[in-house]
Amino acid sequence: MKTGKKTVRKKAEKKETPAKHTPKVHKKPPVKKKQAVVTEEKKEVVKPETLPQKKILLEGTENVKQLSEKTGIPSADIIKYFFSLGFMVTLNQSPGKENLKKVCESNGFTVEFQKPESMIEKKVSKEEKKLLIPRAPVVTIMGHVDHGKTTILDTIRKSRVAEKEHGLITQKIGAYKVELGEKGSIVFLDTPGHESFTAMRARGALITDIVVLVVAADEGVKPQTVEAINHAKSANVPIVVAINKIDKPNLNLDRVKKQLTEYALVPEEWGGDTVFVNVSGLTGAGINELLEMLVLMGEMLELKASPEGEAEGVVIESFIDRARGPIINVLVREGMLKTGDIFITGEVRGKVRAIIDDWNRKIDIAGPSTPVEILGANGVAVPGEKFQVVKSEKVARQLLEERVTGHIQKETGVKKVTLEDIYKEIQKGEVKKLNLIIKTDYVGSVDAIKNIIDKIPDSEVKVSIIHSETGAISESDVLLASASNAVIVGFNVPLTQQVEEMAEKEGVEIRTYKIIYELAEDIAKAVEGMLEPTEQEILSGQASVKKVFHLSDKSTIAGCFVLNGKMIRNSVAKVIRGGSIIFQGTILNLKRFKETVKEVKENTECGIQIDKFTDFQIGDIIQSYIKTKVVKKL
Ligand code: GDP
Repeated sequence: MKTGKKTVRKKAEKKETPAKHTPKVHKKPPVKKKQAVVTEEKKEVVKPETLPQKKILLEGTENVKQLSEKTGIPSADIIKYFFSLGFMVTLNQSPGKENLKKVCESNGFTVEFQKPESMIEKKVSKEEKKLLIPRAPVVTIMGHVDHGKTTILDTIRKSRVAEKEHGLITQKIGAYKVELGEKGSIVFLDTPGHESFTAMRARGALITDIVVLVVAADEGVKPQTVEAINHAKSANVPIVVAINKIDKPNLNLDRVKKQLTEYALVPEEWGGDTVFVNVSGLTGAGINELLEMLVLMGEMLELKASPEGEAEGVVIESFIDRARGPIINVLVREGMLKTGDIFITGEVRGKVRAIIDDWNRKIDIAGPSTPVEILGANGVAVPGEKFQVVKSEKVARQLLEERVTGHIQKETGVKKVTLEDIYKEIQKGEVKKLNLIIKTDYVGSVDAIKNIIDKIPDSEVKVSIIHSETGAISESDVLLASASNAVIVGFNVPLTQQVEEMAEKEGVEIRTYKIIYELAEDIAKAVEGMLEPTEQEILSGQASVKKVFHLSDKSTIAGCFVLNGKMIRNSVAKVIRGGSIIFQGTILNLKRFKETVKEVKENTECGIQIDKFTDFQIGDIIQSYIKTKVVKKL
């Protein structure tokens, strides 16, 4: 283990060597040339502790790169210093005020902090309060699987007649608004499908004003019905019950109602205060009544918002679009969102380049309770995160720096890596804990995986997620895994040869998956100690697309340069653009000049054709993977 660690350190040193040989000039305090010459010799022997103290003025939010520029301490040394303290910081991360102080002091500086330009998060002023107007309720549909949530949402979406007459097409942006003319309007959050829905449901309830609990008339209360009730109740969100599938024969609706009374959902007709509506998502029966009930409930809740001022909202979903870059779907809660607004959300910022509504229309402004798609972010945002318009780019940058700092400080406790811990574990002779680092394409997938892991029954081995994040598997993940004896699990994320090589050196296992259930199954089996040999993809090489030749509609050849390893015909191909896998298929044809060949080696040119993929762009990276049987270790 120790040798391994040394290798990493050496590697880190190597990488940063240029900075070492050409140290940046100290900005503060300025060093006169003459003095520098005189002290040059001394510098060789004087240890940092004995250097005369230099004063440095910091804001406390500097990242490693900025700190290096301000102090002249090579960034590699700063990173190594923190690593020796037990956590990792990358060039663009700030280690936080206290840690900045520590590293400066250990390099002979005395630190003074100056307050960054103070910024106060937007609060509704008294004047704005006067402008409060009623807003549409935000509704989440919850309930047991197959009880008809999606059907009801689809039926309501399709019932938006007025707009349909204008020939508009609905666009799925995580939520949609139903206008009921003079009666009012309602916003429905699309319950995310697949596994992440349990995690999202908990978050969804936070922006939800009303929960529609869908209970199938023929099945009645089921485990997820109870979960949904608990989520809504813990968030203090009122519930409207929709008893669905009333078109089915031989139903006993009273039985369902009775079951629900056990969870304090008593229909009005039985003296309770819960609204019950009988519906059929399939035939549309009762749907109008349900909508009217929701509008009434919204009125009773006296939901209000200010349509003026800088907008605030919540991220519903976010992803990278191949053509348009990062997309953030936001539900505006307060204020008026406008094209050109500067915004921040989590650790992402941007300028609103375009606003698109749930009818796929480009709009210029969006007021409270409006779901919209926003273009112009510098990254993918986190669902459930607050979205906030700020006054200027400068304010956005500064607020983000503060956030990033806070984030790192919060995480250092989790990321703590000590060689001693691993040593102790090895000494015990048995690994009782399975540490995982999880990297995924979407935030929802992280939640889904966490959810699955939570559900693994207790066993001798405790599964613990020490780090989870969206994005490609990086060298720092490998470092963290190596130091904390963890396995890296990637879900739909790219893996570079460089990272793979590093993992090999470090003895770190990286497992990538495309199907969440396979991942869940492997983890569960690992815990039970019964992993079977399996097929795994091994990266064999990477090539970069230099030219694109369209031979016909269905046939396009990418003129490539093999960057490393080798490209193999009939192997699995992954096309990477902007850090994301945009296509996965098979290398159908591999050409060297005019000849079809089995493989093409590093530093050579070749033509690549991928089955069912023609949309190459210059700069795309094509990875070639071979499948091989391996014994699972986890
Ligand atoms: P979800 O998992 O809760 O989203 O459930 P779905 O909306 O996917 O519905 C599950 C199944 O129930 C599908 O086969 C639907 O066609 C069916 N279904 C949904 N609503 C109704 C209904 O009102 N009546 C009948 N007969 N079937 C329904």
